[in-house]
Amino acid sequence: MEKIAFIGLGNMGGPMAANLVGAGYAVTAFDLSPVALEQAVACGCTRGESAESAARGADVVISMLPSGAAVKGLYLGARGLLQALDAGALVIDCSTISAADARQLIAAAGERDIRAVDAPVSGGTAAAVAGTLSFMCGGDAGAVDAARPYLQAMGANIFHAGPAGSGQVAKICNNMLLAIHMIGTAEALQLGVDNGLDPKVLSDIMKASSGGNWSLEKYNPYPGVMDNVPAANGYAGGFAVALMLKDLGLAMDTAAGSASSTPLGALAKNLYQLHGSREEIRRLDFSSIQNLFRRPAGD
Ligand code: NAD
Repeated sequence: MEKIAFIGLGNMGGPMAANLVGAGYAVTAFDLSPVALEQAVACGCTRGESAESAARGADVVISMLPSGAAVKGLYLGARGLLQALDAGALVIDCSTISAADARQLIAAAGERDIRAVDAPVSGGTAAAVAGTLSFMCGGDAGAVDAARPYLQAMGANIFHAGPAGSGQVAKICNNMLLAIHMIGTAEALQLGVDNGLDPKVLSDIMKASSGGNWSLEKYNPYPGVMDNVPAANGYAGGFAVALMLKDLGLAMDTAAGSASSTPLGALAKNLYQLHGSREEIRRLDFSSIQNLFRRPAGD
C-alpha cells in the first residue's frame, strides 16, 4: 500500500486524513498545531515529527493549508518538501490558493519529476467527515488520474477542470457564488423574522420555492433552524470568515486580471469585511454573517 503524508489537519484536513486511514492507507500526518496532530493520531494516523520527516519516502503528499504563502513555504525553497520527495512522487494540494501560486508549485514539482495537481474542495466540514467532498482538479490528465484513488477515499465527485491552476479558478468562482447566496439567504431570513415569520417555517417555504439554495438547505445561517450546522453551535468550527475573506480576495484578484465584472462578488467581500472587522468574528463560521442583519434583542 502506498505511503501518504498529510500536512494540515484543521477543520478539513483532519477528517480527510481520517478517511484515508479508513480506506486502508498508511498516513503519516503533520500539523503545526499539536492539538490538531493529536486528533489525527487518535484517528489512526502516524505522528510526523515535522513536515519533512512525514514526507520523506512518501509516495503521495496531500496538503490542506490556509493560504498560498503556507503552501509555498511548505513545498518550495531550499528546505521545501519538493527537495525531500523522490522523483515520481505525487503532490495533491487541496488548499484554496491563487491559480498563480498553484501553477508555480506544479511547475517547480515538474522540474524535479514530481507530479502535482491543484485539487481544492467544496462541501464543507460535514462533507469532509462523510467523505463526500467535491474535488476540482487542475493539472495534466495523467497526474489527475494518478490522484483519483486518493481523492475517491475522501470525496464523491472528482472533476478535472483543466490544466494547472484550473481547479483553483473553479473553486473561487464557486466560493464567490457561495458568499453571495449565503448573504442573500441571511438577508431574506431576517426580513421574514422582522415581519413576524418563524425562520424555520420561512426556510421550509423557500426550500420548496424558487429561493432554494445550498446555504438555505444545507447550511442554514439562522440559529434554531437546522441541527449539525455552525449556526446551531454559536457559529464555531466550519469555514472561517477569515478564509471566506481570503477566497473573495482571490476572486477579486482573478476578476481584475481578466477584466471581468463582478459587482456582487465585490459587494459580498465588502460585507464580509464589515462583518469580520474584529478578530474573534473572523474565526467564526462564515454563516455568522446572519448577525450583520439581526437586530439587538429588544430593538
Ligand atoms: P483550518 O485553519 O481549520 O486548518 C488549517 C490547518 O493548517 C491548521 O491546523 C494549521 O495549524 C495548519 N497549518 C498551517 N500552516 C501549516 C504548515 N506550514 N505546516 C503544517 N500545518 C500548517 O482551515 P480549514 O478550514 O481546514 O481550511 C483549510 C483549507 O481548506 C483552506 O485553504 C480553506 O480555504 C479550504 N476550505 C475550507 C473549507 C471549510 O469548510 N472549512 C471548505 C473548503 C475549502
